[in-house]
Amino acid sequence: MRLLPRASTSQTKSRPGMTAAAMKTQARNAVATLADRSGVLARGEAGIRDQVTILCYHRILPDAERNAYHDPVLAVTPDAFRNHCRLLATHYTVAPLATAIEQSRERARTDRPRAVITFDDGYRDNILLAAPILREFGLRATFFVIAGLVDTETVPWYDLAGASWKALARQGRALPGMDAREAVARAKQMSPYERQNWLEDLQREAGPSALPDRDLIMTSAQLRDLVAEGHEIGSHTMTHPLLPQCDDAMLAHELKQSQISLVEMTGQDVKGICYPNGDCDARVLRASADAGYSYATSVVQGTNDLASVDMMTLRRWFISQDRLSDSRGRPSDALFRMEICGLAHRIFNRGTPQ
Ligand SMILES: [Zn+2]
Repeated sequence: MRLLPRASTSQTKSRPGMTAAAMKTQARNAVATLADRSGVLARGEAGIRDQVTILCYHRILPDAERNAYHDPVLAVTPDAFRNHCRLLATHYTVAPLATAIEQSRERARTDRPRAVITFDDGYRDNILLAAPILREFGLRATFFVIAGLVDTETVPWYDLAGASWKALARQGRALPGMDAREAVARAKQMSPYERQNWLEDLQREAGPSALPDRDLIMTSAQLRDLVAEGHEIGSHTMTHPLLPQCDDAMLAHELKQSQISLVEMTGQDVKGICYPNGDCDARVLRASADAGYSYATSVVQGTNDLASVDMMTLRRWFISQDRLSDSRGRPSDALFRMEICGLAHRIFNRGTPQ
């Protein structure tokens, strides 16, 4: 099915010396602009009015820190996030996940589609940089927090690994041809025991890495501040293991203890969980429901029709700043809107992000 008129040649004409990636970005922007002007975008948004659209963010970092981070794909700058919030506040009814599910089930009236902003991991940059922007637009979000790292000076294992890999690369001692992101991706495939050994070796080789305060997970006082502002806290397990790799006892502990800890810290119900890395299987889904969670988020892309979706594998849109920028690297309104109403996925036929 052809969803859009063809882009005019003037809008897709490439500049001499443009890379293939830049040409692709330019073409995507031309399609998005046409979708906006032709009304296709507005119709796409009207089409998801009865669904729940969930956005997946991780980190909000200024440009320099984003570029220095071992996995910049997981970070969005404050400027880009502010632009996203402006668009969400204009075109969507935004609420934390628990509220959006409740209102959608009650068929509460809304003229606009429902959107939920979620953050994975619970980094301190979320409260330092994201929370003030959310406040600016009167938006409330859901934060999935690695409960075992709250009130500690310990960063998640993959950040330790990423920082160590980058340190080795700077010294010319990392495996050639493999960047930190790929090294971490490979480590995720190891068994927990293998990974721990690998990580210890890597840290020994690289020496101590100075990690900024923003890389830590929020404190319990910060979580309470978020709750006091109307945000929701969900679980992202105790230690961020890949849940299908856990034996039954460890799986039950990661699911239940994280919920108990977060309830104790915040004084609020913790109804939702986000599977680390999106990894889950039938056993994990069952164990999550048994632990008392009412819903869980995955990294499968899509919107959620609550009448038919499995509540233990809710779909989300992974927000990539680079994919949603124009050829000059500025946030594109039309691309963002196209992404989160599902049009971009249908038109560009994209797969699930890693
Ligand atoms: Zn995570």
